Amino acid sequence: MSAPTGQVLIVEDEVPIRRFVGDALRREGCIVSEAGTAPQGLDLVALGGIDLVVLDLGLPGMSGLQFIEALRHWSQVPVLILSARGTEQDKIAALDAGADDYLTKPFGLGEFVARVRALRRRPARDEAIMPQCRFGDVEVDLARQRVRRGGADLHLTQLEYRLLACLLSSEGTVMTHRRLLREVWGPGRAEQAHYLRIYVARLRQKLEEDPAQPKYLLTETGVGYRFQSCVSRNDSCPTMPPAAASPRSL
Ligand code: CA
Repeated sequence: MSAPTGQVLIVEDEVPIRRFVGDALRREGCIVSEAGTAPQGLDLVALGGIDLVVLDLGLPGMSGLQFIEALRHWSQVPVLILSARGTEQDKIAALDAGADDYLTKPFGLGEFVARVRALRRRPARDEAIMPQCRFGDVEVDLARQRVRRGGADLHLTQLEYRLLACLLSSEGTVMTHRRLLREVWGPGRAEQAHYLRIYVARLRQKLEEDPAQPKYLLTETGVGYRFQSCVSRNDSCPTMPPAAASPRSL
Protein backbone atom coordinates (compact mmCIF):
# COMPACT_ATOMS: atom_id res chain seq x y z
CA MET A 1 0.00 0.00 0.00
CA SER A 2 1.07 3.60 -0.52
CA ALA A 3 2.49 5.59 2.32
CA PRO A 4 0.05 8.02 4.01
CA THR A 5 1.72 10.96 2.26
CA GLY A 6 2.09 9.55 -1.23
CA GLN A 7 4.14 11.11 -3.96
CA VAL A 8 2.12 11.85 -7.08
CA LEU A 9 3.54 12.75 -10.48
CA ILE A 10 1.42 14.89 -12.81
CA VAL A 11 2.32 14.50 -16.50
CA GLU A 12 0.44 17.30 -18.26
CA ASP A 13 1.52 19.95 -20.75
CA GLU A 14 -1.03 22.58 -19.75
CA VAL A 15 0.28 24.59 -16.81
CA PRO A 16 -3.16 25.75 -15.47
CA ILE A 17 -4.40 22.15 -15.28
CA ARG A 18 -1.15 21.02 -13.67
CA ARG A 19 -1.57 23.74 -11.06
CA PHE A 20 -5.25 22.94 -10.45
CA VAL A 21 -4.60 19.22 -10.05
CA GLY A 22 -1.41 19.80 -8.04
CA ASP A 23 -3.15 22.08 -5.54
CA ALA A 24 -5.92 19.50 -5.02
CA LEU A 25 -3.35 16.76 -4.40
CA ARG A 26 -1.34 18.88 -1.97
CA ARG A 27 -4.52 19.50 0.02
CA GLU A 28 -4.84 15.68 0.20
CA GLY A 29 -1.40 15.57 1.82
CA CYS A 30 0.41 14.35 -1.30
CA ILE A 31 3.88 15.39 -2.39
CA VAL A 32 3.55 16.52 -6.01
CA SER A 33 6.04 16.32 -8.87
CA GLU A 34 5.28 17.74 -12.30
CA ALA A 35 6.36 16.96 -15.85
CA GLY A 36 5.30 18.75 -19.03
CA THR A 37 6.22 15.91 -21.41
CA ALA A 38 6.10 12.11 -21.40
CA PRO A 39 9.91 11.61 -21.50
CA GLN A 40 10.35 13.94 -18.51
CA GLY A 41 7.62 11.95 -16.71
CA LEU A 42 9.31 8.61 -17.42
CA ASP A 43 12.60 10.00 -16.09
CA LEU A 44 10.91 11.09 -12.85
CA VAL A 45 9.22 7.68 -12.33
CA ALA A 46 12.56 5.98 -13.00
CA LEU A 47 14.14 7.99 -10.18
CA GLY A 48 11.82 6.11 -7.79
CA GLY A 49 9.43 7.05 -4.99
CA ILE A 50 6.37 7.84 -7.16
CA ASP A 51 3.15 6.20 -5.82
CA LEU A 52 0.73 7.41 -8.48
CA VAL A 53 0.89 9.04 -11.93
CA VAL A 54 -1.82 11.44 -13.12
CA LEU A 55 -1.46 11.42 -16.89
CA ASP A 56 -2.78 13.63 -19.67
CA LEU A 57 -3.24 11.68 -22.91
CA GLY A 58 -2.82 14.64 -25.27
CA LEU A 59 0.85 15.46 -24.81
CA PRO A 60 3.14 17.06 -27.40
CA GLY A 61 5.54 14.58 -29.05
CA MET A 62 5.32 11.31 -27.15
CA SER A 63 1.63 10.74 -26.28
CA GLY A 64 0.12 9.58 -23.00
CA LEU A 65 -0.61 6.19 -24.60
CA GLN A 66 3.05 5.81 -25.57
CA PHE A 67 3.98 6.83 -22.01
CA ILE A 68 1.87 3.95 -20.59
CA GLU A 69 3.25 1.44 -23.07
CA ALA A 70 6.83 2.42 -22.20
CA LEU A 71 6.15 2.56 -18.45
CA ARG A 72 4.51 -0.87 -18.19
CA HIS A 73 7.67 -2.61 -19.36
CA TRP A 74 9.29 -1.82 -16.04
CA SER A 75 6.82 -0.25 -13.58
CA GLN A 76 3.39 -1.12 -12.14
CA VAL A 77 2.84 2.29 -10.52
CA PRO A 78 -0.90 3.14 -10.73
CA VAL A 79 -1.86 5.55 -13.53
CA LEU A 80 -4.93 7.79 -13.58
CA ILE A 81 -5.66 9.23 -17.02
CA LEU A 82 -6.99 12.71 -17.64
CA SER A 83 -8.51 12.70 -21.08
CA ALA A 84 -10.24 15.27 -23.28
CA ARG A 85 -13.58 14.20 -24.72
CA GLY A 86 -12.30 13.73 -28.27
CA THR A 87 -9.94 10.90 -27.38
CA GLU A 88 -12.31 8.05 -26.39
CA GLN A 89 -10.39 5.43 -28.40
CA ASP A 90 -7.05 6.62 -26.99
CA LYS A 91 -8.54 6.39 -23.49
CA ILE A 92 -9.68 2.78 -24.01
CA ALA A 93 -6.33 1.90 -25.61
CA ALA A 94 -4.51 3.40 -22.60
CA LEU A 95 -6.67 1.42 -20.14
CA ASP A 96 -6.05 -1.73 -22.15
CA ALA A 97 -2.32 -0.97 -22.16
CA GLY A 98 -2.32 -0.92 -18.36
CA ALA A 99 -3.62 2.41 -17.09
CA ASP A 100 -5.78 1.98 -13.98
CA ASP A 101 -8.51 4.59 -14.25
CA TYR A 102 -9.55 7.69 -16.16
CA LEU A 103 -11.39 10.96 -15.83
CA THR A 104 -12.75 12.95 -18.75
CA LYS A 105 -12.00 16.69 -18.84
CA PRO A 106 -13.57 18.81 -17.51
CA PHE A 107 -13.95 16.82 -14.30
CA GLY A 108 -15.21 17.54 -10.80
CA LEU A 109 -12.51 18.04 -8.22
CA GLY A 110 -14.40 15.84 -5.72
CA GLU A 111 -14.49 12.95 -8.15
CA PHE A 112 -10.82 13.43 -9.03
CA VAL A 113 -9.79 13.27 -5.37
CA ALA A 114 -12.03 10.21 -4.78
CA ARG A 115 -10.37 8.39 -7.71
CA VAL A 116 -6.91 9.27 -6.38
CA ARG A 117 -7.86 7.93 -2.95
CA ALA A 118 -9.25 4.72 -4.48
CA LEU A 119 -6.04 4.13 -6.43
CA ARG A 120 -3.87 4.82 -3.40
CA ARG A 121 -5.95 2.39 -1.28
CA ARG A 122 -5.47 -0.36 -3.80
CA PRO A 123 -2.85 -2.99 -3.12
CA ALA A 124 -0.08 -3.26 -5.68
CA ARG A 125 -0.91 -5.50 -8.64
CA ASP A 126 1.24 -8.39 -7.48
CA GLU A 127 -0.05 -8.32 -3.89
CA ALA A 128 -2.88 -10.65 -2.93
CA ILE A 129 -6.38 -9.25 -3.45
CA MET A 130 -8.42 -8.57 -0.34
CA PRO A 131 -9.63 -11.89 1.10
CA GLN A 132 -12.97 -10.52 2.33
CA CYS A 133 -15.20 -7.75 1.18
CA ARG A 134 -18.61 -6.42 2.18
CA PHE A 135 -20.97 -4.10 0.29
CA GLY A 136 -24.64 -3.53 1.09
CA ASP A 137 -25.92 -6.81 2.56
CA VAL A 138 -23.43 -8.86 0.51
CA GLU A 139 -20.32 -10.52 1.96
CA VAL A 140 -17.68 -12.05 -0.29
CA ASP A 141 -14.99 -14.35 1.05
CA LEU A 142 -12.50 -14.58 -1.80
CA ALA A 143 -10.25 -17.08 -0.05
CA ARG A 144 -13.15 -19.56 0.37
CA GLN A 145 -14.93 -18.51 -2.85
CA ARG A 146 -18.08 -17.95 -0.82
CA VAL A 147 -20.72 -15.25 -1.33
CA ARG A 148 -23.46 -14.51 1.19
CA ARG A 149 -26.35 -12.11 0.96
CA GLY A 150 -28.41 -11.11 3.99
CA GLY A 151 -26.57 -13.83 5.94
CA ALA A 152 -27.57 -16.65 3.54
CA ASP A 153 -25.26 -18.46 1.12
CA LEU A 154 -25.66 -17.36 -2.49
CA HIS A 155 -24.78 -19.56 -5.45
CA LEU A 156 -22.67 -18.02 -8.21
CA THR A 157 -21.43 -19.96 -11.24
CA GLN A 158 -17.65 -20.15 -11.76
CA LEU A 159 -17.75 -17.43 -14.43
CA GLU A 160 -19.98 -15.17 -12.35
CA TYR A 161 -17.65 -15.61 -9.42
CA ARG A 162 -14.52 -14.91 -11.47
CA LEU A 163 -16.07 -11.78 -12.93
CA LEU A 164 -17.09 -10.56 -9.47
CA ALA A 165 -13.63 -11.29 -8.02
CA CYS A 166 -12.02 -9.44 -10.93
CA LEU A 167 -14.19 -6.34 -10.36
CA LEU A 168 -13.70 -6.42 -6.57
CA SER A 169 -9.95 -6.65 -6.90
CA SER A 170 -9.89 -3.33 -8.72
CA GLU A 171 -12.41 -1.57 -6.52
CA GLY A 172 -13.11 2.03 -7.43
CA THR A 173 -11.35 1.89 -10.78
CA VAL A 174 -12.62 1.12 -14.26
CA MET A 175 -12.00 -2.22 -15.98
CA THR A 176 -12.36 -2.09 -19.76
CA HIS A 177 -14.53 -4.65 -21.58
CA ARG A 178 -11.41 -6.06 -23.18
CA ARG A 179 -9.51 -6.42 -19.92
CA LEU A 180 -12.42 -8.13 -18.13
CA LEU A 181 -13.00 -10.51 -21.03
CA ARG A 182 -9.30 -11.35 -21.16
CA GLU A 183 -9.05 -11.97 -17.42
CA VAL A 184 -12.32 -13.90 -16.98
CA TRP A 185 -12.82 -15.69 -20.31
CA GLY A 186 -9.24 -15.73 -21.64
CA PRO A 187 -7.46 -13.97 -24.52
CA GLY A 188 -9.56 -15.66 -27.26
CA ARG A 189 -12.76 -13.92 -26.16
CA ALA A 190 -11.47 -10.36 -25.84
CA GLU A 191 -13.84 -9.03 -28.55
CA GLN A 192 -17.06 -10.62 -27.31
CA ALA A 193 -18.52 -7.88 -25.16
CA HIS A 194 -22.01 -9.45 -25.18
CA TYR A 195 -20.77 -12.12 -22.73
CA LEU A 196 -19.98 -9.37 -20.31
CA ARG A 197 -23.36 -7.68 -20.60
CA ILE A 198 -25.10 -10.98 -19.86
CA TYR A 199 -22.92 -11.86 -16.89
CA VAL A 200 -22.92 -8.39 -15.37
CA ALA A 201 -26.74 -8.44 -15.62
CA ARG A 202 -26.79 -11.80 -13.80
CA LEU A 203 -24.50 -10.52 -11.07
CA ARG A 204 -26.70 -7.46 -10.63
CA GLN A 205 -29.77 -9.71 -10.34
CA LYS A 206 -28.08 -11.64 -7.57
CA LEU A 207 -26.27 -8.85 -5.72
CA GLU A 208 -27.98 -5.51 -6.28
CA GLU A 209 -31.05 -4.34 -4.39
CA ASP A 210 -32.37 -2.81 -7.64
CA PRO A 211 -30.61 -4.45 -10.64
CA ALA A 212 -31.96 -1.72 -12.96
CA GLN A 213 -30.31 1.01 -10.83
CA PRO A 214 -27.11 -0.66 -9.65
CA LYS A 215 -25.22 0.93 -6.76
CA TYR A 216 -22.12 -1.27 -6.77
CA LEU A 217 -21.61 -2.82 -10.20
CA LEU A 218 -21.53 0.31 -12.32
CA THR A 219 -21.46 0.73 -16.09
CA GLU A 220 -18.85 3.03 -17.63
CA THR A 221 -20.62 3.67 -20.92
CA GLY A 222 -18.59 2.59 -23.94
CA VAL A 223 -15.59 1.67 -21.79
CA GLY A 224 -16.30 -1.05 -19.21
CA TYR A 225 -17.41 -1.59 -15.61
CA ARG A 226 -16.45 -0.37 -12.18
CA PHE A 227 -17.09 -1.86 -8.75
CA GLN A 228 -17.75 0.91 -6.25
CA SER A 229 -18.38 -0.01 -2.62
CA CYS A 230 -18.87 3.32 -0.90
CA VAL A 231 -17.67 6.51 -2.64
CA SER A 232 -20.42 8.72 -4.05
CA ARG A 233 -19.89 9.67 -7.70
CA ASN A 234 -22.37 12.50 -7.61
CA ASP A 235 -20.71 15.03 -5.39
CA SER A 236 -21.18 18.69 -6.00
CA CYS A 237 -17.55 19.73 -5.78
CA PRO A 238 -16.13 22.36 -8.13
CA THR A 239 -15.40 21.43 -11.73
CA MET A 240 -12.08 21.95 -13.43
CA PRO A 241 -11.93 25.11 -15.54
CA PRO A 242 -11.78 24.68 -19.35
CA ALA A 243 -8.25 24.21 -20.65
CA ALA A 244 -7.98 27.74 -22.01
CA ALA A 245 -9.24 29.47 -18.86
CA SER A 246 -6.89 30.85 -16.25
CA PRO A 247 -6.59 28.88 -13.02
CA ARG A 248 -8.80 29.84 -10.13
CA SER A 249 -8.25 29.29 -6.49
CA LEU A 250 -10.75 27.05 -4.73
CA1 CA B 1 -2.69 18.20 -23.18
